[in-house]
Order: sequence, then structure tokens, then C-alpha cells
Amino acid sequence: MECKEAEQYVQPYIDGTLGDRELAAYLQHVRSCSACRKNLQIYFSICYLLQYVGQDEQGDLSYDMRKVLEEDMRRNERGLRFRAVFRTIRHLAVIVGEVIMIVALIWTFLGDTAETFLKYLGF
Ligand SMILES: [Zn+2]
Repeated sequence: MECKEAEQYVQPYIDGTLGDRELAAYLQHVRSCSACRKNLQIYFSICYLLQYVGQDEQGDLSYDMRKVLEEDMRRNERGLRFRAVFRTIRHLAVIVGEVIMIVALIWTFLGDTAETFLKYLGF
């Protein structure tokens, strides 16, 4: 991902509206590009503080914005990993389901054949 493209992902990242593919590409870029990381840090901090000001209960405001963003990025990366594992499990479940269906079809076919064969033999 180029910096120009990454710039367009700042707001969607903060809003949490990026798809997994864009999120992964953006996080990877921000991890390796200090300019874009700084850019995200600024917008993220502003949004975080504005959100905090808008809250009724003003509990634990963290002023360590670097840490808050790092935690947010880690949470997003965990989400990506979790969803990737979930997708893999879902794919495996589909494959297992298909194998069971194929085995069932073969079983039925062989069963019928065996029955026909047994009838042919006079049983
Ligand atoms: Zn960049």
C-alpha cells in the first residue's frame, strides 16, 4: 500500500468500517511507515478526545495516546487473526460436509449395487 492510499484509510480505520483485506493492508503499512503512523496517531488522538468529551461518565481517560492507539491496533490485529481462523474452520467444515456427502453417495451407490448383486445371486 502506498502512503497516498493509506491516507484515505485513516477515517475508515477510526470509524471501524474497513473490510478485513483493507484493514490488514492498512495496519501492515502503518506498522512499517512512520509518517502514516504519525498521521493516524494525530487523527486517532483527536477522535479519542472528542469521544471522551462527549461521554457522560468520564471514567478512565488515558493521556498516553501512543499506548491507546497501540492497543487499538493490537485489538484490530487480534480481530483479523480471529476472523481468519474462523474462516478456515468454516472452510474445513464445508469440506468435511462435502466429503461426508460424497461418502454417503458412494455408500448408497455401493449399497444398491450390492443389493442388486445379492438379488441377482438369488438372496
Ligand atoms: Zn505511509
